[in-house]
Amino acid sequence: MSQLAHTDAFAPPPETGARRHLIGLDPAAMGEAVRELGEPAFRAKQLWQWVYHHGARDFAAMRNLSKSFRARLAEAFVLDRPEAASHQVSGDGTQKWLLSFADGNQAEMVYIPEADRGTLCISSQVGCTLTCRFCHTGTQRLVRNLSPGEIVGQVMLARDFLGEWPSPKDERGLTNIVLMGMGEPLYNYENVAQAMRIVMDPHGIALGKRRITLSTAGVVPAMRRCGEELGVNLAVSLHATTDAVRDRIVPLNRKYPIAELLDACRAYPGVHNARRITFEYVMLDGVNDSDADAERLAELLKDIPAKVNLIPFNPWPGTEFACSSWERIERFSDLLAERHLSAPVRRPRGRDILAACGQLKSASERQRRAARTTLNDPAARPV
Ligand code: SAH
Repeated sequence: MSQLAHTDAFAPPPETGARRHLIGLDPAAMGEAVRELGEPAFRAKQLWQWVYHHGARDFAAMRNLSKSFRARLAEAFVLDRPEAASHQVSGDGTQKWLLSFADGNQAEMVYIPEADRGTLCISSQVGCTLTCRFCHTGTQRLVRNLSPGEIVGQVMLARDFLGEWPSPKDERGLTNIVLMGMGEPLYNYENVAQAMRIVMDPHGIALGKRRITLSTAGVVPAMRRCGEELGVNLAVSLHATTDAVRDRIVPLNRKYPIAELLDACRAYPGVHNARRITFEYVMLDGVNDSDADAERLAELLKDIPAKVNLIPFNPWPGTEFACSSWERIERFSDLLAERHLSAPVRRPRGRDILAACGQLKSASERQRRAARTTLNDPAARPV
C-alpha cells in the first residue's frame, strides 16, 4: 500500500550502542532473542512477563532467570523507556509529559483521569506530515515514525509514574489508550499495529481492544486493515461538512474526500450501535460552526453508528483561527442532539499545564531557541 510506505524513507530509531531495545519486540522476536542467547524457548514467556507484566526496569530483578542468563541479557539488551524530559500535574489531575527519545527527538503524552476511567493519549510519530491548518503539530517538521518500542514504551512509562506494576487486573488507573497525540497513526501503521498487539497481550500490559481508540484524519486505504487486524475503536477527525472547507483545513481530504471517508467508516469492521465511530469536530469560529454545518453533519452521519466529539479549538501563537463561542458550541451540540446524534463537548482538561495539542513541545522548543514569543494564555479562551 503506497500510503503506508509514505514515511518509510525516514531514518529508523537509533540503537543504544551495541545493545538492542527489548521493549517493542513481539513474541516471535523475543523467542528469537532468547534462542540467540542460548536459552530454551520457554524462557521467552518468562522474559515477556518480566518486561510487560511486571514492568521490570532491570534484568537483575528477574528472579526466576539464571544469573548467567540475566548477565547475557544485560549485555545484549536494554529495557529503556522514553525519557520524561518534563512532567507536570494539573490542578484537575491531568498529567503531561514531554518525552525524549534516544536520539533527542521529542513528543508529548497526556494522562486524563476521570471518574470511571483513566485515558492515556500517546503519540505515533515525531511531528506529522498532514499539515492540518488548525493543528500546531502540522507546522512542525516530521522527523520520523516512532518504533513499536517507542510507542509501547510510552504506555510503560505512564505505568511507571502511576505505580501500576505488575499489570493490575482491577482498579487500574490507566484503563484506556487513545492514539491522539502527535502524528498520523495510519501513516505508521505497521509500528502502531505491533505496539498495540503488545499492549493488548493478556500476559502483559493487557489492555483490551475495546479500550484502545485510534484517531485518524482519514487514511482511507488503511482503515479496513486496522479494523480487521486490530479491532480497536476508531475516531475520525472530520472537522468539516463540505469538501471545500475540509480540503482547506484537512488537506488529506483532497486525496480522500468526505464521501470516500464515510464509506470507509460504514465498512469499518465491527462497527455497530454498541461500538460507534467517534467523529471529532474541532469548533472553529466562523469556519465550520454554523447551523447549516450542524444540519449537514447530522445528515452525513445519519446511517453510520456515530457519536460526535465537539472539541473547543485550542489556539496557538500565529494561528489564523479562533475557538467558537461557548453559546455557538452549545447550540451546535443541541442541533445535533435534536437529530439524535450524541455530541458531548469535550471539556478542556489540564489547561494550567497546556495539556493540548503540540503546546508543551512547542513551548520547550521556543525556550531552547530562547525566542521571545510568549504563549497565548489558554485560560483566556472562552471555554
Ligand atoms: N492524526 C490523527 C491523530 C492526531 S490529532 C488525527 O488527525 O486524528 C488528534 C486530534 O486533535 C484530532 O482530532 C485533531 O484534529 C485534534 N487537534 C489538533 N490540533 C488541535 C487544536 N489546536 N485544537 C483542538 N483540537 C486539535
